[in-house]
Amino acid sequence: MTVSVTGATGFIGKRLVQRLHADNHNVCVLTRSKSKAELIFPVKNFPGIIIAEEAGWKDCIQGSNAVVNLAGMPISTRWSLAIKKEIKESRIKVTSKVVDLINNSPQGVRPTVLVSATAVGYYGTSETRVFDESSPSGNDYLAEVCREWEGTALKVDKDVRLALIRIGVVLGKDGGALAKMIPLFEVFAGGPLGSGRQWFSWIHLDDIVNLIYEALYNPSYKGVINGTAPNPVRLSELCSQLGNAMGRPSWLPVPDFALKAVLGEGATVVLEGQKVLPVKAKELGFPFKYPYVKDALESILK
Ligand code: NDP
Repeated sequence: MTVSVTGATGFIGKRLVQRLHADNHNVCVLTRSKSKAELIFPVKNFPGIIIAEEAGWKDCIQGSNAVVNLAGMPISTRWSLAIKKEIKESRIKVTSKVVDLINNSPQGVRPTVLVSATAVGYYGTSETRVFDESSPSGNDYLAEVCREWEGTALKVDKDVRLALIRIGVVLGKDGGALAKMIPLFEVFAGGPLGSGRQWFSWIHLDDIVNLIYEALYNPSYKGVINGTAPNPVRLSELCSQLGNAMGRPSWLPVPDFALKAVLGEGATVVLEGQKVLPVKAKELGFPFKYPYVKDALESILK
């Protein structure tokens, strides 16, 4: 299979490309910066990978069986009005370009699958409600971003199978929220954040990569699929399991302001949060490698 990937140089994309390459698929890395991508995927380790800046995206997409769309400006930053605009526009612009290129590809050389990222922020935040794929969208800023992001992907022609993955907070070793939280927890000696009652819908990096990979192949993976582990936890539980996994079981609370200092307003994802269940992935029989946060954290921190 030939797969074109936007956001391939990011936290999730890097691992996905490594996996696709290891399994002998042809990969096109669609990037804004060829030089950055060449450092991440050096030719000696990734022979045969094609790296293309925007002008080359058309040829890559036309020669691909599938496209994975992961690009977007990171949300863990300070949210000025200009940055909020860019967080949204970066996702809409890339998704729109990918969709146009797929729709305008001639039959015969046209990708048949689009796997496009979105986020559990779609549902808004709540300490009490439980969300699945059929739940309505929330009414905060991230919900609005996700609605427009998904709406853009939905413009892909109907003969292209579209899987929209609403991703939870991805836990992995060298990136994402956890990489930023761990040093902070070390400084403040860890402990729950705020009330600790907020829900944290997480997924291990291996599982989100496997889910995206499965969606490339399996025709049953279509429409909205929550990319979250089956056992979301309250923040107090996450912090306590993190303490155990780091060998520091009794911690003091980390002040919210400290988390905001490292995650910016993107900290709302952690400080507010939502309980999201992967109902569709379970119906599809997706085999979660890490259904429990304890095992996920131990595998990451060992
Ligand atoms: P990263 O931030 O690690 O990488 C995203 C990639 O998007 C970058 O490598 C970059 O690729 C591209 N990018 C960055 N800024 C811009 C911009 N201004 N305009 C266009 N492209 C840009 O993301 P993740 O791998 O963590 O996540 C992938 C997707 O999944 C993202 O869209 C994210 O919102 C979503 N998601 C992630 C979650 C997580 O916990 N990680 C949770 C929920 C959703 P390049 O420089 O090569 O163009």
